Amino acid sequence: MREVTAVIAENRAIARDIFSLTFDCGEEIAVRPGQFCMLGVTGFPLRRPIAVCKAAGSLVTVCYRLKGEGTRALARLAAGEALQVLLPLGNGFYLGAQEKRVALVGGGVGIFPLISVIGVYAGQRALYAYMGFRNREALCMEQELARCEKLTLASDDGSFGFHGTSVQAFLQEVDAVRPDVVLSCGPTPMLRALKQGMQGRGIPVYVSLEERMGCGIGACLVCVCNKTDGAHARVCKDGPVFEIGEVEL
Ligand SMILES: Cc1cc2nc3c(=O)[nH]c(=O)nc-3n(C[C@H](O)[C@H](O)[C@H](O)COP(=O)(O)OP(=O)(O)OC[C@H]3O[C@@H](n4cnc5c(N)ncnc54)[C@H](O)[C@@H]3O)c2cc1C
Repeated sequence: MREVTAVIAENRAIARDIFSLTFDCGEEIAVRPGQFCMLGVTGFPLRRPIAVCKAAGSLVTVCYRLKGEGTRALARLAAGEALQVLLPLGNGFYLGAQEKRVALVGGGVGIFPLISVIGVYAGQRALYAYMGFRNREALCMEQELARCEKLTLASDDGSFGFHGTSVQAFLQEVDAVRPDVVLSCGPTPMLRALKQGMQGRGIPVYVSLEERMGCGIGACLVCVCNKTDGAHARVCKDGPVFEIGEVEL
């Protein structure tokens, strides 16, 4: 994990209320798919956790949705400005050699950590992506998503693609696709539906949790989640990726 003063290369809107931010860390940063960074925002004591979408050499790209004051302040930053960043953080997604058919199920800002999986594994594994958006205005990253073997887009309002959630779209096809593993990220109700739908199928499912975080490095315990065995885990340090049966949703 490093703390760097990065320089912003680009910060632009790519969909309604969604921004893509690329910054130069000044040194090569190795990032595993599903790892995240903590972005410092001037005037806010707590950094904001955001998944890494792409890391190439010293350049790192993240995408974020405007939510509260912190992300709104981020959106005002321009190319050339400095950004305090802690990275890479968390465990990330890991694919074993035998996991050749991989389903990616993302919803909302949960699609962003899965973009990094596509960046690393497209062409090496058969990737079946199911990605859900609120509506047409929120649709983004189509070019990156199109690198998957098969892509199903879903919209909550039915304005394009499958009318419903990405989990519903995926569960309709899971028996035909027969993935070796499922990687997912999205809002908790979505992950809960995935957990229920995958019960008894014998297919491993890994989910990335997006809990509220304080420090991002395992010290403050703000992001502690309940495990199904009664123990607790720090989402930032022990996760954010967990086997779905391991955590309470
Ligand atoms: C591992 C991880 C990866 C994430 N990746 C992305 C991503 O790629 N793109 C994206 O748009 N969002 C992502 N999020 C959610 C993002 O961190 C929050 O939307 C953001 O921190 C909100 O900050 P704010 O100041 O705008 O909102 P506020 O609601 O004003 O934030 C107040 C405080 O609560 C925390 N907070 C609020 N909502 C969340 C949340 N859902 N998760 C965690 N902390 C929260 C903030 O860090 C801040 O400390 C991720 C969260 C985690 C934990």
